[in-house]
Amino acid sequence: MHVCRKNSPALRDPAEFKILVRDNCALTISRANEKQDNYRNTNLKIALLDLNYRIIIKRNLSTRAFLNPHFLIQAITDSILKIIKDSRLTKLNIFGVGLGLPGPVDAQRGKVYFLPNIAGWKNINLKVILSKKLRLPVFLDNDAKLMSLAEYTLGAARGAKCAVCITLGTGVGGGIVIDGRIYRGVNNIAGEIGHLPINESGPVCNCGGRACLEAYIGNNRILRQAKKIFKRDISLEELSALAKKSDSRALKIWSGVGNRLGMALVSVVNLLNPDRIVIGGGVANAGAILFDPVKKFIVKRAMPVQARDVKIVKARLGPDAGIIGAAILVGENIGKPKVKNFLILT
Ligand SMILES: [Zn+2]
Repeated sequence: MHVCRKNSPALRDPAEFKILVRDNCALTISRANEKQDNYRNTNLKIALLDLNYRIIIKRNLSTRAFLNPHFLIQAITDSILKIIKDSRLTKLNIFGVGLGLPGPVDAQRGKVYFLPNIAGWKNINLKVILSKKLRLPVFLDNDAKLMSLAEYTLGAARGAKCAVCITLGTGVGGGIVIDGRIYRGVNNIAGEIGHLPINESGPVCNCGGRACLEAYIGNNRILRQAKKIFKRDISLEELSALAKKSDSRALKIWSGVGNRLGMALVSVVNLLNPDRIVIGGGVANAGAILFDPVKKFIVKRAMPVQARDVKIVKARLGPDAGIIGAAILVGENIGKPKVKNFLILT
């Protein structure tokens, strides 16, 4: 990736973006974070961050009214400009805009290939479009990769030689950080852990594949399974609470999720020999109910040498990890020195 200060803003897609502010302090970052409900609504988080990656302003933008990507891009543009104005800043204060998107993205070209869980986003040159609209440097990447970057720089993957980060939500995203750099692969989209097949046959996945990890342990799949078993709608929080009270049905569901995640991670552990696996996203809040079966599965099934030195830990930066990662992406692209102080907002 190269730095484009004046003419190449890049805006990304729905997951997250950030704006960096120039001047003494400051970096403003805005990032949109994704959260879907059953009506396929997505909330974007748009935030302004300073040079220490502290969030100054954060706002939500609902995508419900913008099914057409180009209307949504315009709404994102308007929101960013409004945040700059409300902060009494000008574009001269902004280092750049960082975006995290929930799907495969070519970070170098600034292109969104497609978003498995958001209709209408296919082959969109978001960086070019947003840069032109905003006249600011724009950088984008997959949201899980940005979470990985944030956790590596400031969170639970700090100091790891090889870290694999996973986000468990509507989708199952992933990022690989080796020797401090995100591993991107030939087409810049490596790390799609959610789309590792874990069976020869099984449910069709939103990516078009079959029996992908995400097709078993994405939020909606877990909730659908729980509804069948409990004969009513049930939230993830309630499912965790029931498991903590030793409800056998809830424990069975979580153990199934843990085993499937463990199965995919055995492949990851054997292939990459990581020293850290960081698990984040809403599903990770289940805690030991989820982590214990995952750890057991890895100990039981991974090759002993690889299994011995890998630590499975919970993400530390919380739901703002993507925003912070987007800010770091901008910081890295504009040559900002490593951060020394930061504040974790949860
Ligand atoms: Zn898939």
